[in-house]
Amino acid sequence: MNLIYLDNNATTMVAPEVVDAMLPYFTQEYGNPSSIYDLAHGANEAVKISREKVADFLGANEPKEIIFTSCGSESANMAIKGVLDVNRNKKHIITTRVEHPCVLNLYKDLEKRGYQVSWIDVDSKGDLNIGQLLELVTNDTALVSVMMANNETGTIYPVDKISEAVKMRNPETKVFVDGVQAAGKIPINLKDTKIDLFGISGHKFHAPKGVGALYVKKGTMLSPLVVGGHQEKGKRAGTENVPYIVGMACAAQLAKDSLNDELTRVKSLRDKLEKGILSNVKNAVLNSKSSNRVPNTTNIGFQYVEGELILLHLNDEGICASSGSACTSGSLEPSHVLRAQGVPFTSLHGSIRFSLSRYTTESEIDYTIEKLPLIIQKLVKISPFQKELNEIFK
Ligand code: PLP
Repeated sequence: MNLIYLDNNATTMVAPEVVDAMLPYFTQEYGNPSSIYDLAHGANEAVKISREKVADFLGANEPKEIIFTSCGSESANMAIKGVLDVNRNKKHIITTRVEHPCVLNLYKDLEKRGYQVSWIDVDSKGDLNIGQLLELVTNDTALVSVMMANNETGTIYPVDKISEAVKMRNPETKVFVDGVQAAGKIPINLKDTKIDLFGISGHKFHAPKGVGALYVKKGTMLSPLVVGGHQEKGKRAGTENVPYIVGMACAAQLAKDSLNDELTRVKSLRDKLEKGILSNVKNAVLNSKSSNRVPNTTNIGFQYVEGELILLHLNDEGICASSGSACTSGSLEPSHVLRAQGVPFTSLHGSIRFSLSRYTTESEIDYTIEKLPLIIQKLVKISPFQKELNEIFK
């Protein structure tokens, strides 16, 4: 049975070109970029070129605005803690209710430590209440933090417009954008925005897990999260992970080159999957309702059936997808993103995210459209909500 991987927002396959680009840096060019002999020179040069490529990928003004990190979570923690540490007299933060846990849980922790956090709502389509956000910016606002694309629904937030409007209200307020689910899926051109800090993670765009980057706009003051050596111009200590940095830069270039494919072919496959499911499964409802979405993601709720059971049956058919609930952490708490959108409990527990990539084929989508209705039929039969389901299927 072939594997059909529709969980690319969780992680992606490492592109073969990326593996090839990384290999020499394990066995031949393995020098420490900080050393002075010739062997180290190759590694140093590779990091330099990688920084240029990632800067180009994000549309930064200069390569030195890019700091390499170990993941998206580290990039977010570095940005948020780093900014707050150099602005200790300001205690107000504005963020959204739909951020990734690496941002959300950090703000919950900061709330306990005396920060005032304003949580911005989304509407039933998942779009952000930008008016509410802007009204809350004051002289005491140290940081505004909004993700560019949501990992569960794919909703895009207009972070460029938000950053401009925030700076008009308070030019001192810093703007951090979690760009992890946007990078490689939609165009990014940071030099044209007022965004100060922007985090990405390699494994979401076909680089390996364990490497990320933080864009820090020139002139933005930031305390380091990891203190030690002078690497990354003193902003992030630790010997550079040269092979992974090279891999992420290669993946960034490939993602940039295939952006058109993402915006056309991948989007049309996503739309076909969405339409195919919604028209063949009577108890299916669309959760990804915003008109502004990344091209690879859809989130669909199946009323009165259990999401984890859908995933297990999909797995039996060789299809990988993901549920809204935080099952991986051992909790069956429904998704905070879908709850913020007001998705009713009848489909909250049966919500599934499908996320495609440039490696997804049309036959994989056709196969999923064929198998999923049969799975839902089976699960409808064993659901305790027969009366409600009879109403839907009558
Ligand atoms: N931000 C978003 C929106 C994400 O989807 C993820 C991962 O799923 C992260 C941050 C964290 O990235 P990493 O797994 O590299 O720490």
